[in-house]
Amino acid sequence: MTETASTRDAARDLFATLTGHEPIGTWSAPGRVNLIGEHTDYNDGFVFPFATPHRTHVALGTRTDGRIRVVSTFDPVPVEVPLTDLDALFPSEGAPRVPEWSAYPLGVAWALLHAAGLSADAVTGVDLAFASDVPVGAGLSSSAAIEGAAATALADTWGVSADRVTLAQVGRRAENEAVGAPTGIMDQMASMLGQTDAAIFLDCRTLEAQVVDLGFAAAGLELLVIDTHVKHAHATGGYGERRASCEKGAEIMDVPSLRDVSVADLDRAQELMDDVTFRRVRHVVTENQRVLDTVEALRAEGPRAIGALLDASHVSMRDDFEISVPELDTAVEAAVAAGAVGARMTGGGFGGSAIALVAHDRVAAVSDAVTRAFADAGFAAPHLFTVTPSAGAGRDA
Ligand code: ADP
Ligand code: MG
Repeated sequence: MTETASTRDAARDLFATLTGHEPIGTWSAPGRVNLIGEHTDYNDGFVFPFATPHRTHVALGTRTDGRIRVVSTFDPVPVEVPLTDLDALFPSEGAPRVPEWSAYPLGVAWALLHAAGLSADAVTGVDLAFASDVPVGAGLSSSAAIEGAAATALADTWGVSADRVTLAQVGRRAENEAVGAPTGIMDQMASMLGQTDAAIFLDCRTLEAQVVDLGFAAAGLELLVIDTHVKHAHATGGYGERRASCEKGAEIMDVPSLRDVSVADLDRAQELMDDVTFRRVRHVVTENQRVLDTVEALRAEGPRAIGALLDASHVSMRDDFEISVPELDTAVEAAVAAGAVGARMTGGGFGGSAIALVAHDRVAAVSDAVTRAFADAGFAAPHLFTVTPSAGAGRDA
């Protein structure tokens, strides 16, 4: 049995324990890894994530009393509210009145009703039981996975014929307004639109998305994730500061966002702004170009041609955007020295994971080299695993 099938069974079992009967079905949604395009989303730029084989499953059943009950293997104490109370719960001011994890699925229910223009007493009550193999806080977006599972399950059950971009927006609204986490839409789009051995080329300004074949399998390549386990306390503050620098840079360049600045404009930008702001701008502008170049290189030459772009992305985040940490640099340097095609930190920075594109027969050697480099540097052992780009959210067979 695959890991995912057993996670689905765990959701079914949890549902049966909760309700004493079988669910009407199970749905699931993946996490995501961003291949390239970091801190470009809030600058109206380009990102290029793919969906992970790790998924969050939900078993759903209906009930006749107009209530919604959610439970998760993370916290087996169920949370139950009348659907008509959701509007009073969200958006939450101050401390949420439900346990934080439950604000994700309850927030999805709330946002979906609004997106569909449905009143809470026009839809059936539901029980939802979640189980997941998406690691939390490792940069794989377990939050988008639980949102995507809830959104697809509830949309099908309530007869909402929303398209996938709308369901992604429902997930983002839940995360922004019900949970209170200020995130972009990349994670939800990747979880909704992912396809096997492909990544999603997303224009964050128009939300136009193209599925681009990665061809990793045919080229004998694997994507290795190196979770450093590092979580830096200043991650939130650093994120806010970077956003502010980007806004300042766009203002100086007199454009709506850094999306509108091209590599050819950088000389002028350097004359107009202070060094720190300029380097933040240069990261975003060159990173947008690297996403475009990555898509082009994949189409023209295949996945082995993107290694140098991954490496350059890391250098830009390390030196210009200054969001890397020694553990991430060590992971990237050791992976490349041991023969990775390319490597970079992924996610918001200040900790989290690095990724390395590695030939199948080098995975063991690269993994050993990274583990040894961490030990030599006195860092805690990283967690290494491979991910194959996988299918997006939907009803399980
Ligand atoms: P990540 O990078 O993994 O998305 P986040 O902080 O954005 O990290 O989201 C993690 C949070 O999402 C968890 O702390 C929990 O509140 C919620 N969550 C994710 N998956 C589940 C799940 N299967 N069951 C319950 N809560 C979950
Ligand atoms: Mg998240």
